[in-house]
Amino acid sequence: VIALERRHVWPPYTSSEKHEQQEPLVIVRGEGAWIVDANERRYLDGVSSWWTCTLGHDPPRLRRVLREQAEQLIHVAAGGITHAPIALLAKELAEVAPSGLTRTHFSDDGSTSVEVAIKIAFQHWQQNGRPKRHRFVALAGAYHGDTIGAASLAALEEFSGVFGPLLFDIVRPPPPDEGWDAVIDHVERELRARPDEIAGVVVEPLIQGAAGMRMHPPEVLQRLRAITREIDTFLIADEVFTGYGRTGHMFACQRAGITPDLMCIAKGFTAGILPMAATMATDRVYDGFRGGPSRALMHGHTFCGHPLGAAIAREVLAIYRDEKIVEGVAPRAATIARRFAKIAEIPGVRRVRHLGTIGAADLGEGGYSGAMGHRVYEEALRRGAYLRPLGDTVYVAPPLNVTFEELELLLDILEESIRAAIA
Ligand code: PMP
Repeated sequence: VIALERRHVWPPYTSSEKHEQQEPLVIVRGEGAWIVDANERRYLDGVSSWWTCTLGHDPPRLRRVLREQAEQLIHVAAGGITHAPIALLAKELAEVAPSGLTRTHFSDDGSTSVEVAIKIAFQHWQQNGRPKRHRFVALAGAYHGDTIGAASLAALEEFSGVFGPLLFDIVRPPPPDEGWDAVIDHVERELRARPDEIAGVVVEPLIQGAAGMRMHPPEVLQRLRAITREIDTFLIADEVFTGYGRTGHMFACQRAGITPDLMCIAKGFTAGILPMAATMATDRVYDGFRGGPSRALMHGHTFCGHPLGAAIAREVLAIYRDEKIVEGVAPRAATIARRFAKIAEIPGVRRVRHLGTIGAADLGEGGYSGAMGHRVYEEALRRGAYLRPLGDTVYVAPPLNVTFEELELLLDILEESIRAAIA
């Protein structure tokens, strides 16, 4: 497997040198919070496979639903056709989403859910003879996916730099070095200066994941909501990472008590079982397409809302209800808070932070180019945990239903690995 992988696979985010030198793990099975390799070595998945397996690997209930739906109907195209799983799922999403998000467009993954949101915004403002709005506001540190539109929003040079000139202009407030009020003041000034140019403000609510688990208080979202409402532009919440309970609420926006105009969800949406994503909108956004020059949403992939994914996504919601998954976050968050207070005392750890099932520590020089994070990764693998640092930020984001015993073990391994890497 390793020889074939090295010869024929082109993996994501991996330089050819690293790909040829570093032995990948060959995984044969997933069991709850664990992944198992071809030598029967078990690793605690400390990052839920890129934050997506919120219910652990291959949960039996989702396996069963996958089998049952496969017996019934696997795929039909969306045009002029519907099916029960998608219609029921759309209704159930409206019940759990921030109130007022009633309408769902289904797509493939987090990147396309963002792509759809920005396309909706572009088209919306051109209805009824309004001027074209060709700018978005995106925050310092933003990451919203890898398709060209979503990458255009990215502040991280690594993700967007080489692809310029990109499709549209970004208004970028400064990083929050002088506090969040300064950031929001900047956004407000820009919106007031060009009210007819900005199609939307895009934000990862409460936590910017890829930027290194950077967190902001709910007031940031509340102020952005107030300003975008006053100046009449869209607030687009990218809940691809923060949705589905990660922060202790079903959606992070609910913690701030706000409803965005558009909300993007993926990852936990199918608990990592199948690629499927959604962009939710209010009736006002949907109704804006009536009567204008471009009435049809100009987006539609082959797999917009497939029965298999929809059946899984419905069962995910049922598991969340039956097993009180979101309610289980607070006690796990308390464990993470306690353990990270201890990690903060290790010499060489610069800063720690935590929210919900996420705990993060900055090491070494910080940033994406540092080598400390990778050392922690190697130390943790040796000790039986899979972590995937963001540069010199090491973090945990385990499945939400990780047991307390597994969580303590994961944090033991993290702590020991940081000490070993720094020594
Ligand atoms: N938005 C955010 C906030 C993300 O964290 C990610 C993925 N890490 C994406 C969008 C892109 O999602 P995907 O990888 O499923 O395309």
